[in-house]
Amino acid sequence: MKKLILLSTVFLLPLLIAAQPEVPIEEWTGKTILLVGAHPDDDAGRHGTLAMLQENGNDVYILLLTAGNVGTRDRTMTRQRLEKIRRHEQLTAMSHIGIPAENYINLGYTDGMVEFANPEELVKRLVWWYRKIQPDVLIAFEPGYRYQRWHKADHRAAAYLAVDAARAAEWHLIFPEQVIQEELEPVRIMEYMFWGSEGNNLTVDISDYVENKVQSRMSYLSQFSSTGSNNYPGDSDDYFMTLDDLPADERAAFIERFRSSTGPTESFRYYRGAPDGVGSGPALGGN
Ligand SMILES: [Zn+2]
Repeated sequence: MKKLILLSTVFLLPLLIAAQPEVPIEEWTGKTILLVGAHPDDDAGRHGTLAMLQENGNDVYILLLTAGNVGTRDRTMTRQRLEKIRRHEQLTAMSHIGIPAENYINLGYTDGMVEFANPEELVKRLVWWYRKIQPDVLIAFEPGYRYQRWHKADHRAAAYLAVDAARAAEWHLIFPEQVIQEELEPVRIMEYMFWGSEGNNLTVDISDYVENKVQSRMSYLSQFSSTGSNNYPGDSDDYFMTLDDLPADERAAFIERFRSSTGPTESFRYYRGAPDGVGSGPALGGN
């Protein structure tokens, strides 16, 4: 029996170690960190962690697959105008967490249609950016349980694509022209943080960044406010609404909503190891 316990400990040890960062995330510095999501705002629930990482001397990038160009109930809105609004809101949100505009990449796919885009082209474009940015850490939707059962189609696609591209990016014979002609280096991403997981094993203290996160989340006025979503103000393509455009009672409720719902922690499923093992580890029961 003792031998059995010893054996299990020996076999489990690498998995247990891989379930936590070598250095606590609060002490990370000098890392390159890439978040991949589907829509402008998918990153917003992680903005406390991103603000902390950026301020601590890491380089944080946000890559979103779609332009966020269809999610409105305003019947006078066009895709073109909404794309501009969503870009403006995303960059405003990022400014509140200290991430520069040049660290924002948007692949421009149409909102709601990612699963119908050419998957090879999508993975190829992601791999190109992975090889260009050379991230140490990938933050993405959990490709596990919740997304296999059901989720918004773009999120489901983004969850798988982000990890599939990580698997492809390390092999120089996949999309070899990027390596040969464009002189990009293959990259083996060895740390992952997934949100929307049922196997969270990493809690990040963001108490110093709650105000940054409140401000950043309130930037998505065309999505999160009733006025912005149903009747976006202004006729010009270049007009972007502010909190002042909200009627006083809606504005007060809007601010209160974000103040009361932004907690002092954010949770992830952390995994350290080769991309092929992303689904393994004790947090998901081991496999
Ligand atoms: Zn989304």
